[in-house]
Amino acid sequence: MYNPKSLKAEEFIDNAEVLASLEYAEQNKHNRELIEQILEKAAPKKTGRGTECAGLSHREASVLLACDIPDLVEKMFQLANDIKQAFYGNRIVMFAPLYLSNYCVNQCVYCPYHYQNKSIPRKKLTQEEVKQEVIALQDMGHKRLAIEAGEDPVNNPIEYILECIKTIYSIQHKNGAIRRVNVNIAATTVENYKKLHDAGIGTYILFQETYHKESYEKLHPAGPKHNYAYHTEAMDRAMEGGIDDVGLGVLFGLELYKYEFAALLMHAEHLEAVHGVGPHTISVPRLRRADDIDPDQFDNGIDDETFAKIVACIRIAVPYTGMIISTRESEQCRNKVLDLGVSQISGGSRTSVGGYAGYDADERPHDTEQFDVSDQRSLDEVVKWLMDLGYIPSFCTACYREGRTGDRFMSLCKTGQILNCCHPNALMTLKEFLEDYASPATKETGEKLIREELEKIPNEKARKLAKEYIENIHLGKRDFRF
Ligand code: SAM
Repeated sequence: MYNPKSLKAEEFIDNAEVLASLEYAEQNKHNRELIEQILEKAAPKKTGRGTECAGLSHREASVLLACDIPDLVEKMFQLANDIKQAFYGNRIVMFAPLYLSNYCVNQCVYCPYHYQNKSIPRKKLTQEEVKQEVIALQDMGHKRLAIEAGEDPVNNPIEYILECIKTIYSIQHKNGAIRRVNVNIAATTVENYKKLHDAGIGTYILFQETYHKESYEKLHPAGPKHNYAYHTEAMDRAMEGGIDDVGLGVLFGLELYKYEFAALLMHAEHLEAVHGVGPHTISVPRLRRADDIDPDQFDNGIDDETFAKIVACIRIAVPYTGMIISTRESEQCRNKVLDLGVSQISGGSRTSVGGYAGYDADERPHDTEQFDVSDQRSLDEVVKWLMDLGYIPSFCTACYREGRTGDRFMSLCKTGQILNCCHPNALMTLKEFLEDYASPATKETGEKLIREELEKIPNEKARKLAKEYIENIHLGKRDFRF
């Protein structure tokens, strides 16, 4: 029986409720009156405290996703853009993945790290290698990482992950620093989540891959990840372990996208119902070619148009949840979804273990790669591209370092303080990037952008202070934040 407050996976992601939602969506996908009401409900509203958005239930959002009436789809895209503007403005947060180890005991049939793949070399970074990778990432200008590892209790125990986190945070190379480490490792125990929390991680990210239990079990035929309930209930254990910010995601291409979409939102509703705070981020990875993986073996791939619609509908349904897109997607596709709600993107990424240190920007080791990278541009190129499109690339990590996690972050969003807080933080961290890492062309574009954007800070005191801080960054000081 469906119960969003239950702690049992099969009750908060109740299969019958997902199917009933899809049925309801199918029946109403041409119900113009209802769709207009749903869009009106989700639109940003001015309140005494600032701008607020009501969000949508999984059923309402499923109706939007099913609707194919051109002018209403256009309205959805416009609304997604309005919501994005209201809460995220034109800032895009930058990050990079860091692969620690590709040892894995699972048998995920879509992932080349699966245990039975004997052709892929197995590699695990030593602490010295972690240091070299981090220096290479700092030299590109990164401040925020997502660490990635296969699941292997012998080769990658929690102690190894914790040691790597400690190493990453300890490295100060020139003006560089990694200020936020997000963690994407397999589902684990409350005790281990507590340890990750105590190590000062940012977001704990775990992709569900698919919410469809039967498919899930087929796609993960053996290994600890086979256990659907243990995997699906991981975020509850993470929150019990003290981690406020969790990141959801499904791997699009494995199952029917409408099913995944409804279930993903049910998961978000469950976290809100039980813990009082929804997911901090949602990722939207799509299946890619990899070592012994051919995405054409899977029947449920989605085209770019559908992908864009999914992004827009997520933005409308969960307005305060950040949305992440990786270099699995091409420049063209990333361009399209930036407007529809994506708030974080990776840049200059390598998906191999040890893929950064010792390689030039145009050199790419493929031997231990998890999947083919589609957007292969350097971080400098991505930063310049974003600015040319009118976005502010942000290397900000302030919220988490100021304790604004979980619902405290949400309240910053809702009270409209973003323009006085996140906006200057984005500009100051961009300024650091321009001073320390940018090419002359990127620097020129960025300096102009910063001058223009500083004037948009509404509060006079905050504007004056931000200008002062930016001048101090130019003089060599670092790490200012609101
Ligand atoms: N091992 C951890 C786990 O099981 O959750 C997490 C790390 S794994 C390195 C990160 C994610 O990469 C997986 O959750 C999966 O969604 C994604 N992935 C695996 N194979 C992929 C492929 N062929 N194309 C695109 N993404 C893939």
